[in-house]
Amino acid sequence: MSNPRILILGAPGAGKGTQSRRLAEEFGIEHITTGDALRENKGMDISHLDLEYDTPGEYMDAGELVPDEVVNEIVKTALEEANGFVLDGYPRNESQTEYLDSITDLDVVLYLDVDEDELVRRLTGRRVCEDCGATYHVDFNPPEEAGVCDECGGDLYQREDDTEETARERIEVYEENTAPVVEYFRDQGVLEEIDGEQTPDEVWEDVKATVEARAN
Ligand code: ADP
Ligand code: ADP
Ligand code: ZN
Repeated sequence: MSNPRILILGAPGAGKGTQSRRLAEEFGIEHITTGDALRENKGMDISHLDLEYDTPGEYMDAGELVPDEVVNEIVKTALEEANGFVLDGYPRNESQTEYLDSITDLDVVLYLDVDEDELVRRLTGRRVCEDCGATYHVDFNPPEEAGVCDECGGDLYQREDDTEETARERIEVYEENTAPVVEYFRDQGVLEEIDGEQTPDEVWEDVKATVEARAN
C-alpha cells in the first residue's frame, strides 16, 4: 500500500509524536497532529462559539479538550490536503470519532499501551524543539547537548502543560473521553495493540512491522 492512512492512539505521553515522526519519514506521508496545530493557534479568537473560554490556549493550559467545532475543522482541512497521513491526537472523544468516520477511511489503527506512572514520567521530562518539533526526554531520550536539538540545532523548551499537575489532569481527561475511543476501534476488530513501554527503537520495530503487514 502506498500512502497509508494511519491513526495512532494512546494516552498523553505514550509516544505518539515520537513514532509518528518516524512513520511520516518512512512512508512519505503527512504527520497531522491536532496538538501542534492548536499550539500554533493558541490565541485564535473563538468567542463567537460562546463557550467556556475564548481561545484554544485557555483550554490547553487547563488540560481540557478544545471544543470539537474547532478541532474538527482543523482535521478536515489537513486530511483534504494529505496524500497518506498519520493522524496523532485525534479523535479524542466519541463525537470526533463519528466525525472522522464521516470524512475518511483508515488503513491501520495503532494503539500504544503505556502505564499511568510511566506517562507522568515521560510528560514531565519532555522537551520539544521550537524550530522543528522534534521531541526529547531529559532522561529517556536526551539530546547530545542539553537544551539543543540534535536534528536542527534549535532550542529545546518545556511545554506549559507538561507540569505534573496538568499532566495528571490530561490523563484523567483521556481516561474519561478518549479511552472509549480505543474501545470503539477494539470492538470493530481493527485495533493493533503495541507495547509502548519498550525502548523507542523497539516500539518503532513493532509499529513499522504492523503497518507493513497491513499494507500487504
Ligand atoms: P499529548 O501529545 O501530550 O497527547 P497534545 O499535544 O496532543 O498532547 O495535546 C495538547 C492539548 O491540545 C490537549 O491537552 C488539548 O487541550 C488540545 N487538543 C489536542 N488535540 C485535541 C483534540 N483532538 N480535541 C480536543 N483538544 C485537543
Ligand atoms: P505523545 O505524543 O503520545 O504525547 P511523545 O512522543 O511526545 O508522546 O513522548 C512523550 C515523552 O516520552 C517525550 O519526552 C519522549 O521523548 C518520551 N518517549 C517517547 N517514547 C518513549 C519510549 N518508548 N520510552 C521512553 N520515553 C519515550
Ligand atoms: Zn529541531
